[in-house]
Formats: sequence, C-alpha cells, structure tokens
Amino acid sequence: MNRNRIILISGIILIMIAGTSATLLKPAYHLLYETGNQIIDKNLTIVTGGGGNSGVLVTDSAVIVIDTKMGDDAEKLYNLAKSKAGNKKIIVVNTHYHGDHVKGNRFYKGCTIFIGAYDPGFLQKEVDPENMPDHFVKDSLIMNLGNETMCLYNLGQAHTWNDMVVLLKSRKVLFTGDLVFHMRHPFLVRKSGANVDKWIGTLEVMLKMPGIGMVVPGHGETGDASMIALMRNYFLDMKAAAADPSKEGQMKEKYKGWTETPNMTSTGVTIAYIRNL
Ligand SMILES: [Zn+2]
Repeated sequence: MNRNRIILISGIILIMIAGTSATLLKPAYHLLYETGNQIIDKNLTIVTGGGGNSGVLVTDSAVIVIDTKMGDDAEKLYNLAKSKAGNKKIIVVNTHYHGDHVKGNRFYKGCTIFIGAYDPGFLQKEVDPENMPDHFVKDSLIMNLGNETMCLYNLGQAHTWNDMVVLLKSRKVLFTGDLVFHMRHPFLVRKSGANVDKWIGTLEVMLKMPGIGMVVPGHGETGDASMIALMRNYFLDMKAAAADPSKEGQMKEKYKGWTETPNMTSTGVTIAYIRNL
C-alpha cells in the first residue's frame, strides 16, 4: 500500500470517527454547551446553555446572577454580569449544587452566594471550596431590590436533596433550576437525592404559585407555566409505565420528541430509576 493511500484511508477513518462521535454527542453537547442570550427587557437577560440556564438581572440595588454555569461560558457570564454591574454589588443565587449550575461561582469573589440549605457535610464533599456558596436559605427569602422583588423558595428534595426556585415577582418570571427540563429527559442521580414522588409533589406546589408568566427551566427553551404541568405529567406517565411494562412502548412513542443524553437520560432510564426506588 503506498503512502498516499494510507493517508487517504486514515483520513476516511478519522472522518467516520468524527461523524460517529458528533452524532452520539449531539444531544449532550446541545444540552450542556450551546449558549444563547435571550433579552427579556433592558434589565433582564436569560443566558441559555453553557451548563444550566442562567439569568442576569439588573436592579436598583444590585445585579443578580442566577446559576453560574461551567467552563468558558461561566467566565463569559461573569463578564456580562460585571459589565452590567458597574459599581453595584453582584448577588448570586444557585438553584442547586450540581456543577453545571455552580462551577462559575469561583469568579464571584467577595459576592454573596445563596443556595438552599443542604447538609453542610454533603456540600463540602460535592462542591469545590472555590465554588462553595456562603448563604443558605432554609425556607424562603424575599429581597426588595427596588424595581424588582426577588423571592427565593427552598422547595426541598426533588431533583436533588434541596432545590430552590427564584421568582421575580414584578416580572412574573420563575427560574425553576432543574425542577423543569423543557422537552428533555431529566437527570436522575440517586446520590444527589433525586426522588420522583417528591419531585411530582414539588411541581404541584409550583403549579399553585399564582401569576407566573414565564418559566426559565434548568435546561431547554424558556416558556410559560404550562411547562411545569408538562414535567409533572411526564413523571406521572413514567410512573404508570414503571408499574405496568405494557405501557412502556406507548410512553417511548409519546416522548420520542424529548432530547436524550446518551447513557444518561431517556424514557427507559427514567422508568428504570422509578422501578429501583
Ligand atoms: Zn441538576
């Protein structure tokens, strides 16, 4: 075999490998890395992707950053917040402890960082010291920021041992963290405390929150309050399929439009998780 032919074949193999991994990685890549800015009004920007979805809110008294992403996108988010803050202080809120929501905390040195109140020993094991929040919300915290009132509600165990949602009261915008995955199968990790029954209960509580106009999910596109019911119905369907295997095919068909993450999230993974509870 001459040298050119070897190079040509290696090239074809490389293209095949690249093509295969691109196909395999596409949903995960999209979930974690594709970023986009959604400008809601002159003071509120939603930055989707690059980890969990984030919000940057400019108020009269401070700039609020909701979830700090990971990797390069975390730094970009910090630079955006910093550029909007000027001399105002920045306050960070983490909806939960997962890395794709907190790994940018390290950029906010000296800033107050809120999270729901986890067992401190658990958090110390799971979160790098440089990303560790320093204020822990037990039940709720209402902050009057001048032109916006921010309500932090610790809703307890659901996606993790402790999930917090953020309501911007004047705007009627709710950041759900990973309590809502929009048209995406949810991450369910036992060590994190993911509990489908408690998650359904939490979604029911959220459904009773009055006057929610816009929902910012932890992952996926933003939408309205119907996304909360969609997530609740997903879990009810998965529970039905977990209890009755004859319904499994029907549920796979119903949710075939939802994004999967290879080997991590799918209809089958959710059903198996529920069965092992
Ligand atoms: Zn999460």
